[in-house]
Amino acid sequence: MLKSLIIVSLSSAACLFAPAGCAQTVSTTATAALEVRRVEPPDLSDAHLGKRILCERPMRHGAPRLCVEQVGDKVVAHDYGHGGSGWTLAPGSAEYVDGLLIASPLAKDLRTDTPITVIGAGVIGLFTAYDLCQKGYTNITVMAERFDGLTSHNAGGLLAPVSMDNDPAMQSVIERIGLDAYRFYAQVARGEHPHFKTGAVIVPAYFDDRKESGLEAYVGKVMKPAKDVILDFGTGTTRRMVAYDDGIFMDTAVMMQSLTDWLKPRVKFVQRKVQRLSDVETRFIVDCAGLGAGALNGDAAMVPVQGHLIMLKDQDPAKLRHMILVYFGEGKTASGMKVKRSFYQFPKHLPDTGAADVGVVGGTFIEGAGMDMPNEDEFRILIENARKFYGLSR
Ligand SMILES: Cc1cc2nc3c(=O)[nH]c(=O)nc-3n(C[C@H](O)[C@H](O)[C@H](O)COP(=O)(O)OP(=O)(O)OC[C@H]3O[C@@H](n4cnc5c(N)ncnc54)[C@H](O)[C@@H]3O)c2cc1C
Repeated sequence: MLKSLIIVSLSSAACLFAPAGCAQTVSTTATAALEVRRVEPPDLSDAHLGKRILCERPMRHGAPRLCVEQVGDKVVAHDYGHGGSGWTLAPGSAEYVDGLLIASPLAKDLRTDTPITVIGAGVIGLFTAYDLCQKGYTNITVMAERFDGLTSHNAGGLLAPVSMDNDPAMQSVIERIGLDAYRFYAQVARGEHPHFKTGAVIVPAYFDDRKESGLEAYVGKVMKPAKDVILDFGTGTTRRMVAYDDGIFMDTAVMMQSLTDWLKPRVKFVQRKVQRLSDVETRFIVDCAGLGAGALNGDAAMVPVQGHLIMLKDQDPAKLRHMILVYFGEGKTASGMKVKRSFYQFPKHLPDTGAADVGVVGGTFIEGAGMDMPNEDEFRILIENARKFYGLSR
């Protein structure tokens, strides 16, 4: 990203944006002295579009489930239902729930060599196993139906507590967890973490406004205040946006690999679908089963929220060192389902792809759509909206 230092009067910077499938929106800018930043759009021509990804956010209405309970003869700590913010919360969430378990009166006989089973090998399960190791526990099994191609590998990677449905009573816990997670990733990004050197970077994050970013609660604690800026895409299109220059991008598939590599010599990995909690051999369980936790616990508050992503290829990675997220409002899919559409772009990279295969665009939010309802048309709408956002003809 090139950063211009020119401060100009922008009364002429008004622009028009009508995303496909959405009501037309007119974005005007007030006459004000704002910093103008040149941000090069990625190449969104057909030849530069890579893998299409469809996946489901494990949404739990009312907040993620973070608690400890007795289930038959098992002591179960629950850590699931983080919706579109699992990565944003994972390290803090793991630390919080492991702490609840250790402090629980139900776990009086839990010693550091007591066997513990973590169900789930997504980001929540892996961070839980990592945190237990950090706390000195030595007999950990990560048991999961699947280890590859999970929602956790596919996720975009923006650190922002958005796309959850939280009961206000839980908000202070979510904020505390979010701040701890930010500190963890910032340490990785700054090269100061003792175990992880890749997987998180500090880059500017751009939003339409401060409230939508979800990041205001971080300002003054771990982040600096946002700035109003004008993004100039060099296509004749400019947009007034809000910039958090200390935004964090989590390179999700890369970080999953780093976590797995760190854990491999320290914990046991067992591939198995757990049908009932009572089938697990150990008395202590941490339930990080994501969407699968709905069936395991008979938890009707769990619901899938489908998302569409398109990986980019053959790009100039130096031009993609930023994140953008804007929302367009609600529409209907071709199959008649309610869809909340947005456009986001992050510098995501998949291991085992070329060095220039960087960047992802998303995204949709379709509650209740399972993998058997792919809503394929949304991929086309997504890329059309992305091109319109930047003022690209194709
Ligand atoms: C399109 C999209 C974009 C996203 N972007 C972001 C983002 O930018 N930032 C952000 O913070 N978050 C983002 N998210 C959300 C984030 O990806 C999820 O919240 C997070 O990955 C959930 O992690 P998890 O470990 O709970 O679940 P998962 O990754 O789904 O892992 C669940 C694990 O549990 C196992 N399991 C399930 N049931 C059983 C069972 N019965 N027995 C044994 N194992 C079982 C599975 O096999 C798997 O190993 C995005 C999600 C989507 C879909």
